[in-house]
Amino acid sequence: MTEKIYQQDCYLRECEATVLRSEGDELILDRTIFAPDSGGQPWDLGTISGIPVTKVTERNGEVVHVLKKGKNTLADGDRAELAIDWERRFDHMQNHLGEHILSGVFKSRFDIDNKGFHLGDREGTFDLDIPSLTPEMITEAEDLANEAVFRAIPVQRIRLNTPEEAAQYPLRKALSVEEDILVVTVPGVDCVACCCPHPSDTSQIGLIKIIGIEKYKGMTRVHFLCGKRALLDYRQKHIVVSELAEQYSADAYSLLKKVEKAGQKNDAIRRELNELRSSLARRAADALLEESGRYAAGVYEDADMEQIRQTAKRFMELSEKPVILASIKEKTVLLAHSGSAGVQCGKLVKELAEGGRGGGSDTQAQAVFPDTESMLAFVERVKEESGNEQ
Ligand SMILES: [Zn+2]
Repeated sequence: MTEKIYQQDCYLRECEATVLRSEGDELILDRTIFAPDSGGQPWDLGTISGIPVTKVTERNGEVVHVLKKGKNTLADGDRAELAIDWERRFDHMQNHLGEHILSGVFKSRFDIDNKGFHLGDREGTFDLDIPSLTPEMITEAEDLANEAVFRAIPVQRIRLNTPEEAAQYPLRKALSVEEDILVVTVPGVDCVACCCPHPSDTSQIGLIKIIGIEKYKGMTRVHFLCGKRALLDYRQKHIVVSELAEQYSADAYSLLKKVEKAGQKNDAIRRELNELRSSLARRAADALLEESGRYAAGVYEDADMEQIRQTAKRFMELSEKPVILASIKEKTVLLAHSGSAGVQCGKLVKELAEGGRGGGSDTQAQAVFPDTESMLAFVERVKEESGNEQ
């Protein structure tokens, strides 16, 4: 049986151990500071005698250290030097205890159970057994959790042998083991059976921040950050807010109002632009109709395709003739008619758009060209095909 030092001293970063079994890439040791994955928390990384550890997991009560593939040089009975990646471990400890505290607060203040925890590389999540949370509940839970941090409450670990002994404690969750029970308690805040490493007092968690909630299988999934993760997140968001504030000549507190105002201004400009486009399209369609023979054709220097489409649409409201419209700006040609002109627009594009690409239906087709010359040549070919040069 491996002595699990990480359960007694969460702060030991290096130690020596003896190899009990070395099999392939896997090692079983007589003692270890490497915590395996447990209850949603990932395993420790680090090295054993200089060989990188890629995974640590518990199998049949044994802690199995998986080494980098093909690198194991240790044999049964060898002495091994263990060193964990402390930054990763402490980050896990901060976020894990943060989750204990948030869960304890949601339970004691709102009587909501935590049904599942996962600690990812970027953020932690847990699932609360309630369909939704109000913003007020989130803020209150966050405040209470951070107050527990500010009070620097010592974290107690109590080893118990039977469920009867454990029943003396106000456990937040039902026990999942019958013996060798480790109860982790933050007095007045949380009490739960857990065998992961935790900081020795709550102040080491640093900031606890809920960064989002989402609906998940009838429950509410809470996304949170603690400690250095929360600091890095604040730093990044501060950069974003500061840059936006400068762009909008605002500060962090007036930024939203300024963005809202700018949005309203944009909406007004967009509406005005649409009205102008419609008016332009009406005029262009009127002019096309006046100059048209069997069909109408127009080549425009600055009109974009949105303008061209609106013009075509307006023209088709006025006439059944086919219309050929080209945008020099976008090197694109639109062929269209309202349905009774007997021209197959898609077929014309396929047969005549040399150098261009595009297609469409009988009543509407579009072709894009690499240069203006090939586009204008296509327009001429379509005109010739219509047998009605203008
Ligand atoms: Zn825990």
